[in-house]
Amino acid sequence: MTRFQTHVVENQPPDFAPRDLWADDVALREAIDREGGGAHVDRLACYGALAGSELYALSFDAHRDKPRLRTHDRFGHRIDVVEFHPSYHRIIDAAIGHGVAGLSWAGQVSGAHVARAALSYLHHQVEPGTSCPLTMTHAAVPVLRHVPALREWVEKVASSSYDPRDMPIADKAGVTIGMGMTEKQGGSDVRSNMTTATPLATGDTASGQEYALVGHKWFFSAPMSDGFLVLAQAPGGLTCFLLPRRLADGRKNAFALMRLKDKLGDWSNASAEVEFMDARATRIGDEGRGVATILEMVMLTRLDCMLGSVAEMRMALAQALHHTAHRRAFGKALLEQLLMRNVLADLAIEWEAALALSMRVARAVDAMPRDPHEAALARVATAIGKYWICKRTPAFVNEASILPRLYRQAPLNSIWEGSGNIQCLDVLRALTREPESGAALMAELGAATGMHTGYDACFAALKAALVPQQLEEAGARLLVERLALALQASILLRAQSPVADAFCRSRLGGQHGLALGTLPTDLDFGALIERVLPV
Ligand SMILES: Cc1cc2nc3c(=O)[nH]c(=O)nc-3n(C[C@H](O)[C@H](O)[C@H](O)COP(=O)(O)OP(=O)(O)OC[C@H]3O[C@@H](n4cnc5c(N)ncnc54)[C@H](O)[C@@H]3O)c2cc1C
Repeated sequence: MTRFQTHVVENQPPDFAPRDLWADDVALREAIDREGGGAHVDRLACYGALAGSELYALSFDAHRDKPRLRTHDRFGHRIDVVEFHPSYHRIIDAAIGHGVAGLSWAGQVSGAHVARAALSYLHHQVEPGTSCPLTMTHAAVPVLRHVPALREWVEKVASSSYDPRDMPIADKAGVTIGMGMTEKQGGSDVRSNMTTATPLATGDTASGQEYALVGHKWFFSAPMSDGFLVLAQAPGGLTCFLLPRRLADGRKNAFALMRLKDKLGDWSNASAEVEFMDARATRIGDEGRGVATILEMVMLTRLDCMLGSVAEMRMALAQALHHTAHRRAFGKALLEQLLMRNVLADLAIEWEAALALSMRVARAVDAMPRDPHEAALARVATAIGKYWICKRTPAFVNEASILPRLYRQAPLNSIWEGSGNIQCLDVLRALTREPESGAALMAELGAATGMHTGYDACFAALKAALVPQQLEEAGARLLVERLALALQASILLRAQSPVADAFCRSRLGGQHGLALGTLPTDLDFGALIERVLPV
């Protein structure tokens, strides 16, 4: 070394990836086994290896070069095209090819929803922006199935082919779906939608009842999708529609992308503002039943919000463990510092509980068509889990992340598909108006009694509090938080998870502060940390 070679890099960790996200994740593998996804482990193993290597590497470029809106071609024609980085397309292509959007609908193999949920979790860890079109595409299927004339859409939405070309769906093997509900004057309150839908004189055609839509949408993500499920005011009230990007004759549908949103995170994906100018759309469900119709989609997208948030927790924690294992301070690796071990162990508990709840909800969704009890549980547990897991993620990532993009991404899932208060009000609605939801929830919680004294006390208190006539709107957040913690504890206890006792003591038993990293010091931090990741 010469006198002036001052730039010596020391005490930095090696690259985090390539990694096998499936092989590394013991808790995921246990959850798949427990929740009935065992028939799909080969597929999951394959995708976990791909996601942690090639897709992880591609994701950095997809986030660096943000999508660009091209409103016109050079001759002045309106084109309304969004250009994405090539990595964005390669990543979606891999995801769709491996079933991240379509596995749930491919055949009748039991546990397909559970496995698809795991695919979504693996995918989101490396590239959260593409999760948005993938989840909307996956979730659109039950809604599209309402209209027999949309069978080609259903088949192509559920296919394993990705084709980003801007052309009519007849010329494509696979298609993607976006969603437009939010307008300037109302996001949560979709009943205030002003977009109008006028029935066309063609009446009932072979392709379903056609309408012309006039109005705007203020948040229209993945605007290069082939079709969009949108809400608009028909003569009979708020109604759900499928609005194609290209009409069957090849013409561009009559909508204009006004601008792209300047978003905090989610940079690889585009979200647009859009104007409909007599845009053609096919009605789905009855006029006036728009919210009820699109809710079938929303339950699935809410599950993906949970999975996406757990995935962000997982990636943040894995990165933190990798970093602290290789970074030294004050004479030891950070991972060996006692206070750091408390933080990491606390994060490990939080992530594993969130994963356990998400995968349990995936099983309930999987069983919905054949089991009314599971359907009732899925209904209420998605809202509970969506509220709590998405709410916890920004605080979690704040403790753990070394990636700015994870930090920017973390708040998103708690906003879209019903923000925090909306989820809590939804839980209250289910508990007060749908007795089967409350019964399914209590059965799920009751199944873990007798296993932990702290849990039993929590269960008794919740049982006493869950009197539908006494549930107060202003107290909904606290109630839903307690339900979420009890649900997580119940699943961990029955799974005999190594984190169950620590979870119950810290989250239910009051042996915890308000910040993360405040676990009781007699816990075996090493055992909790070692479970997360081989370092
Ligand atoms: C990255 C991103 C992507 C998105 N993509 C899409 C998309 O593809 N399609 C789409 O349609 N929308 C999309 N959205 C919009 C999203 O769904 C809305 O932002 C969301 O529904 C909230 O609506 P709002 O922003 O108008 O807030 P508001 O509805 O004005 O709510 C503001 C606040 O008030 C609270 N609140 C509302 N009502 C009540 C009440 N009764 N009691 C107590 N509190 C209440 C809410 O919880 C929230 O905290 C996206 C948003 C983001 C951030």
